[in-house]
Formats: sequence, C-alpha cells, structure tokens
Amino acid sequence: MTAMFSDRLRTALELADHDQIIFDLGGIEDAYGALLTELPGTAIRFAIKSCPVDGVLETLAGRGSGFDAASPQEIVQALATGVAPELVHYGNTVKSDRNIADAYQLGIRDFATDSVPDVVAIAANAPGSRVFCRLGTTGTGALWGLNRKAGCSVRDAIVVLSIARAQGLVPSGLSVHVGSQQMTTAAWQNAFDEIAFAMTELADVGIRIDRINLGGGLPALGYLDRAGTALDPALAAIFATIRSGMRRLRELSGTELEFVMEPGRHLVADHGAIRAHVVRLSEREQPDGERERWLYLSCGKFNGLYEIDQVRYRMVFPTHPQGLQVPAVVAGPTCDSDDVFGQEPTPAQVPEAIFSGEPVWILSCGAYSTSYTTQRFNGFEPLPVTVLPVAIHA
Ligand SMILES: *Cc1c(COP(=O)(O)O)cnc(C)c1O
Repeated sequence: MTAMFSDRLRTALELADHDQIIFDLGGIEDAYGALLTELPGTAIRFAIKSCPVDGVLETLAGRGSGFDAASPQEIVQALATGVAPELVHYGNTVKSDRNIADAYQLGIRDFATDSVPDVVAIAANAPGSRVFCRLGTTGTGALWGLNRKAGCSVRDAIVVLSIARAQGLVPSGLSVHVGSQQMTTAAWQNAFDEIAFAMTELADVGIRIDRINLGGGLPALGYLDRAGTALDPALAAIFATIRSGMRRLRELSGTELEFVMEPGRHLVADHGAIRAHVVRLSEREQPDGERERWLYLSCGKFNGLYEIDQVRYRMVFPTHPQGLQVPAVVAGPTCDSDDVFGQEPTPAQVPEAIFSGEPVWILSCGAYSTSYTTQRFNGFEPLPVTVLPVAIHA
C-alpha cells in the first residue's frame, strides 16, 4: 500500500466501529510543509471549500497558512482560527454587493475579480481594497476543468484592472486556476505564458502588479482511474514547471513579485479516509440479459463521495485480506442511479464472500467530501468527522 495510507490512518480505521470520515491532521501538516519546500517563498492560502473542517483549518493556520474563501461564511470560519484577515482573500469572482460589504466588514481587503460589474461593486462596497483579476484557462488536462465560469481574457483583464485603478482600488495582481487535479505540466506552462503576456500588456498601460495567485489544481496522488489503475500525476515535473515559471515572471517583473497559491485537494485528499460498511453484494440479470454483480456500500455520492463519477478510490476490505475476488460495480446506498462509482460503471474487484455489515475503507477521499455532502438525501446523514490530532513531538 502506498505512503498516503499512513499508519495513523490505518490504526484509526481499524478502531472505527461505525461509519465516519477520518482526517489525519499530521499528514495534512506534512503536506503543507512539503509544498513549501517544493515552492519556497510562496504564500499558501488553503482553499476552504475542499475541506471546511475546523481542525484542518486550525492545523494549517498554526503552520502559517492563510485561506482562500468563497463566501462571507467561509471568511468567518477562516477567521475563527485566529488567522489575520490579511491572510484571507475573497477568491470567488461570483459575489453580491452584500457579500462584498460583509467581507469588507470582516476585514477582508483582497478580492478576486474578472469583470467590470464585479470590480465596480468591489470599489463601491470595499473601497480601497486590492483586487486580482482572474485569467481564464481551458482546464485541459484536469479532471475538473473549472473553465468558463470564472476568469476573463487578457484584454478584459486590462480593462478590469484599469477601472479598478480609476475607482480607487489597488490593481494588485493576476490569478489563474489550471483546473482541479491537473495532471499535466502543459497547463501550467500555458498559464505562465498567459500571465507573462498579461503582465507585459498591463505594463503598457502603466499597471505594475505585485502579486501572482497561481490558484489550486495541484493533484492528489492516491486516486485510481476508471479502469482501476493508479493515476500518476507528474507532480515533480509540475513543481519544476511552476518554479521555472515563477523565475521567469520575477525576471519579467523587475520589481518584487509575491506568489500565492490556493491548494485545496493536494493538501487534504490523501489524508482523509472513510470507514463505511457493506450494504450488500448482489447479483442480478439486467434487461439486456447481462448478469452483473453490484456491491452496495453505506457511503456514496450523497454522503461523502461526491466525486465518484470522475475518480475511483482505493478500497480496502479489512476482513478479507485474501480470498476469491469477483468483479462488481460499486455503488452508494441511495436509490439514485447517479450514486454509482464511475460515469460508465466499471467493475472493481471485491471479495466474493463479503457480507452485509462488514467494514470497507475508502482511501484518498479527504477532499471535497464533507463539503459536497447532502443533508439527508434518502435519509442518509452526513458522515461523522473524526480528526486525528497532530502528534506531540518529544
Ligand atoms: C476550488 C478552488 C481552489 C482549489 O482547487 P484545488 O484543485 O482543490 O486545489 C483554489 N482556488 C480557487 C479560486 C478555487 O475556486
């Protein structure tokens, strides 16, 4: 088993006698430290939406992390860790006048933007603030593209930041998001090309930015692809591309350039695991005459595994370390036909002798699990959250 399945997580999963999601705070802290080692001098602002669990935010704040918040509610949660408001930015380009005013009231002075109506609203409701304009990306190479809804062209960015300046805001920077679980270096290369082009164009209109926000998109390492083989993101090459891109932009800038990153998934995905249980292994003939086994679990799309249509997770059946395995489509407990592992359900290997009530561990599901959970779809409650405290070092 891979390193992302820490001994701490294993022990906690072994001890868990009911369904829950477990976060290894020590693992998250180590991931934060490793990221700073890879990208020295970068300010990290954890994307809260990927894992809005207080213990996780407190752990990261304790290490010096700031936060990327998408709403006043997330800002409140971030500030509750005791972090200074200067380390929290409003990273959502979608916000009402009221949202902006509330954030300003809470002490937030850094806002993402990508359009004239939004930047005018920021000037009116958060006067004097710093804004960074998000450039659009294609999302190619990512499992979740995040394209089109946020981000504008370089041409628009010039207009948006010029208006920001004219309205008394500080046109502070540019941001990108290459798409979540970005697997390629090419996407990063393109993002740096786009930022470099925008910086040159901005300099022509007399705007010198001092901050680049590289967004999220760094991959988790523990996912499987649809066929059940390990996804193998080129993480080392991605970091090398980012470092050289940062060097290039620093040279281009000629002045101090601060880099910010807003990782979500990369910091938490591999450090969360779910203890679920088997509902039933069944076998049925489909209308087309095909016989299929289905393994129904107590946890699925609506209570912890929202992302099952894009990724597959490593599963461990601890009561069946060996024995005959059979192919079965894996699915969650609800009567919704989307609650199935895989867009086109692909069978996984599961123990033939497994019975109702036996435990199953689902690994690398620490990102976008608690936040993407329904209240009581079909009556299923959100999973209880367990956080494993950071070990006290002697
Ligand atoms: C979702 C999001 C992130 C985090 O993305 P990951 O792929 O989880 O790292 C960062 N920044 C913004 C603006 C986002 O919307």
